Amino acid sequence: MNAGVPALFISDLHLSEDRAAANERFFAFLEKEARGARALYILGDFFEYWIGDDDLAYPFNAVIAGLLQRLSRDGVALFFMHGNRDFLVGERFCEATGAKLLEDPSVVDVAGEKTLLMHGDTLCTDDLDYQNWRRTARSSEWQRAFLSKSLDERRKAVGGMREKSKQVVQAKPAEIMDVNTGTVRQAMERHGVRRLIHGHTHRPGRHRVELDGEPGERWVLPDWYGRGGYLRVSRAKAELVRF
Ligand code: MN
Repeated sequence: MNAGVPALFISDLHLSEDRAAANERFFAFLEKEARGARALYILGDFFEYWIGDDDLAYPFNAVIAGLLQRLSRDGVALFFMHGNRDFLVGERFCEATGAKLLEDPSVVDVAGEKTLLMHGDTLCTDDLDYQNWRRTARSSEWQRAFLSKSLDERRKAVGGMREKSKQVVQAKPAEIMDVNTGTVRQAMERHGVRRLIHGHTHRPGRHRVELDGEPGERWVLPDWYGRGGYLRVSRAKAELVRF
């Protein structure tokens, strides 16, 4: 394995058939940057929503899954972590794409650096309403009930949830929806890492984290509602690349 070949990290693409610009950027990214990578890590909210793996046959989903499968078949290691919009991605999706499902959080060796990977929503501990909803939606009871509905019913239900969430988000002060810095420090110390990579907040950048006197770094991935982009990590360095 060539240590100079980078690993790439993306999240929050929010792919859906009615957002052509982001889709085009993703297709181009797969053809160019991703093809030259050792591994591609998708850290959640890859899809605008995912209502269950039995929706893989939906034409848009089939196209995306086919492209991911081609990438993994060509030798790029593919990893998928759930976001708050696509946490119903499961084994069938992974089989169809060649992706390996990553737990949130996961500690992974990336280019020689022990690295903590998360979607990022669990770091937003000031948003109590959201954390309550998350507990509900991640319970097997809720998921069983939701998945027992027809695809049409689920699509409709998700449409309603997205409308409601838009209103809720607009009414919330911005700082509540960012990470809690204490929660970040605890997570990094608990896992013994000096580098954290996550998405979710749509506030891309590199932040210094004070860890027991030693500085650590938190990389936030860009969303693709705006320009989009990715994090590129090699032995030499980590850098955010914006389109
Ligand atoms: Mn998210």
